[in-house]
Amino acid sequence: MQRRDFLVGSAVVGTGLGSALKTAAVQAQSVSGKGETKMAFEQPPLPYAMDALKPFLSEEQIQFHYGKHHAAYFKNLNALLEGKPESAVSLRDVVIQAPAGPVFNNAAQAWNHSFYWDCLKPRGVAPSGALAAAIERDFGDLAKLRAAMSEAAVKLFGSGWAWLAADKDGKLQVLALGNADTPLKHGLEPVLTIDVWEHAYYIDYRNDRAKYVEGFWDHVDWDFAAKCFAQATG
Ligand code: MN
Repeated sequence: MQRRDFLVGSAVVGTGLGSALKTAAVQAQSVSGKGETKMAFEQPPLPYAMDALKPFLSEEQIQFHYGKHHAAYFKNLNALLEGKPESAVSLRDVVIQAPAGPVFNNAAQAWNHSFYWDCLKPRGVAPSGALAAAIERDFGDLAKLRAAMSEAAVKLFGSGWAWLAADKDGKLQVLALGNADTPLKHGLEPVLTIDVWEHAYYIDYRNDRAKYVEGFWDHVDWDFAAKCFAQATG
């Protein structure tokens, strides 16, 4: 399947918003800077082709993960927020503000996955600059960070996410968070994440989460992580 056709086919567009809210939602979403007219929350395009992460992740694995699972969170969220004031704020703010429940679950899963796709790259790049220095300071070296985050990812019971996150002073920590939980909910800035919901790897790795986690490290976009780290320390 061509990527363009796939994206058009999976586009999620809210309908039925009142005109005032529609305007607000379009304004809120215009922070993406692309100048497109958008309604409600729209799943960002995948930042690479569906087959770009082979053999770590197959085209089929990403078609299901991005095209079915991730897309469904946007669809569910837009249905839940249709006509409500939350549809006029940013997705990140919905995640931060929503109490536990369906709105939080779908908003956080929508946001977490967009972040996850941005953490990956066909050819990974090494950490550099301030982030590299912080990794050395807080973990010793990249191998130790990798070991700590891999352990968190593999041992997390049930569904969830392993995160590297930073506090306002730039102190890094690894977190294993269940279900849709995210560092945004803990006053921390996400820097890197590994999705360890089974749907992230079930086609390519069946039950072998550890093998999926091992493959992740060859495709990390540490330049993206460095930008997120810079945002944490402002
Ligand atoms: Mn997922």
